[in-house]
Amino acid sequence: MTDFETDVLVVGTGPTGSAAALALATYGVRVHAVTRSSWLAPTPRAHITNQRTVEVLRDLGVEEEATRYATPWGLMGDTPFATSLAGEEIARLRTWGTGEDRHGEYVQGSPCPLLDIPQTYLEPVLLGNAAARGATVAFDTEYLAHTQDGAGVTVDLRDSLSGREYRVRARYLIGADGARSRIVADLGLELEGHLARAGTAYVLFHADLRRHVEHRPSILYWIMTPGTSVGEIGMGILRAVRPWHTWIAGWGYDLAAGEPDLAEDAVTAKIRAMVGDPGLEVDVAATSTWYVNQACATSYSSGRVFCGGDAVHRHPPSSGLGSNTSIQDAFNLAWKLAYVIQGRAHESLLDSYSLERVPVGQQVVARANQSRLDYGPLNECFRTTGEADPVAAGLAKLRDPGPAGVAVREALAEALELKNYEFNAQGVELNQRYASGAVLADPDAGEEHWPRDRQLHLQPSTRPGAKLPHCWLVDRNGHRVSTLDLVGRGRFCLVTGLAGGAWAHAVRKLALPFLSSVVIGSGGAADPYCDWARIREIHEAGALLVRPDGHVAWRHGEAMWDEDEALHLVENALCRVLGTTAP
Ligand SMILES: Cc1cc2nc3c(=O)[nH]c(=O)nc-3n(C[C@H](O)[C@H](O)[C@H](O)COP(=O)(O)OP(=O)(O)OC[C@H]3O[C@@H](n4cnc5c(N)ncnc54)[C@H](O)[C@@H]3O)c2cc1C
Repeated sequence: MTDFETDVLVVGTGPTGSAAALALATYGVRVHAVTRSSWLAPTPRAHITNQRTVEVLRDLGVEEEATRYATPWGLMGDTPFATSLAGEEIARLRTWGTGEDRHGEYVQGSPCPLLDIPQTYLEPVLLGNAAARGATVAFDTEYLAHTQDGAGVTVDLRDSLSGREYRVRARYLIGADGARSRIVADLGLELEGHLARAGTAYVLFHADLRRHVEHRPSILYWIMTPGTSVGEIGMGILRAVRPWHTWIAGWGYDLAAGEPDLAEDAVTAKIRAMVGDPGLEVDVAATSTWYVNQACATSYSSGRVFCGGDAVHRHPPSSGLGSNTSIQDAFNLAWKLAYVIQGRAHESLLDSYSLERVPVGQQVVARANQSRLDYGPLNECFRTTGEADPVAAGLAKLRDPGPAGVAVREALAEALELKNYEFNAQGVELNQRYASGAVLADPDAGEEHWPRDRQLHLQPSTRPGAKLPHCWLVDRNGHRVSTLDLVGRGRFCLVTGLAGGAWAHAVRKLALPFLSSVVIGSGGAADPYCDWARIREIHEAGALLVRPDGHVAWRHGEAMWDEDEALHLVENALCRVLGTTAP
């Protein structure tokens, strides 16, 4: 018996905390999650779920369930820009990899689609499955404070129903307590950047808008009505939460002018103007405001406490990266905690969490904020400042058949192109490269070159630190199976080819419960398209050591025929990654 009531205490059950609880419970770790709320997300904030996150859900065995609640990829559609939903449509952008120009790249890069899953649906899938796999959960439970020592963390909590305060002792604490994180403040983690640099009002409402959208399905419609043209985006948004009857209307407001008027009459009038239907029946369900932040912690952990999600990277929803990055933080951390708690790794493995995820957080914070600024050139095409009706004057220019109009239309084409960095940025979502003690650099690899735009285009690679590339293989029954399906699930995996018998032998000899091998080209993982042969970047008799989170930890590019040497190399690589003397 230990004096620990749980191995990991998770504060917060948003995407970060729920995903951490799910992954830890899946890996057999005792985990207790608390939230001060009485239930999960009350409003559908996050929704864009990118391919990497769906890959994570797939690994954790909940992809199918999450998909059931999602607006399918195809319906996420183009993103129109219009004077109102019923008014003049000015431009349209192909988005979310659904366009003819990019779709092939997207489906080639991952076995998973993008999905639109409102946070109100995703959190119950994550936490429900966590509980079904053994995680315990306490609602109405507020984190108050913590202290830590060499063996564990003592956390003060308050049951807000009874007012009772009590303590829980855990080996590790995860601070997944969102953008106003008390745990980050208690740890004194430094946040670089600035908070609340702009404000946005959001209204959740029900209205039947089918006739305006069914012929051009999209989850986002940008609208230029006078009352919503505030701030750097300069447009309001109508977002389909549930096609086509539940919506969010959003618009920027001037923080200096105080809180916006969110009385029912005022927001109903605004929604009617955005739809362009003065008689529209609108049922307002909820109103809220949120701030545009641009800040990232320089370290995500201190001692036995690890923070993730909005607690450590705070940015606007543009590019739809918040919940995605949060879930991926949790996925990066969970296997490491599991390995340390289960005695498979030294505690030093945990240092890699911050080292690997801080650069991702910084990139995401910068990208999301830049995506807002990138509306500037579009606004210049859509409106003429100084006119009584800037949009009408702007549109007149845009439709001018003379040379002035030609120039505006050329500028519009360029301005739309820029928005691909928000709406078709597969590289931002899948090109992460980790560098830490849990990744052994390939001395023969040299510096990586990026012939295509790194943010827009996926560059699959088997370089240590990159995620294992996806390609379709074929199993014994002739069914397609992704390379990603052969790795992960909490285990390390040595990936080799038909000529890599020495590696397969090494794995058998080591007989570790957390190490498997995959021989691509064999019966269970045939490569009939020869895709793996094209993308593996190593000799068929070389090997990749893939971590439980699907990232390559180590690779041996040359052919290996000697079983003893293979054994020695695998053993050595595992020890270095896990920080142990023997695997
Ligand atoms: C309008 C909007 C649209 C968005 N759209 C997208 C999108 O399309 N895609 C995307 O990826 N992201 C999107 N996001 C971002 C996304 O919502 C956040 O990044 C995500 O919710 C962060 O998850 P989290 O778990 O870190 O924090 P949160 O979801 O904020 O969860 C924090 C948790 O901590 C709990 N908590 C806080 N303090 C305490 C305490 N003292 N004691 C106990 N519990 C506590 C809360 O109850 C809650 O359970 C959007 C955000 C907004 C505002």
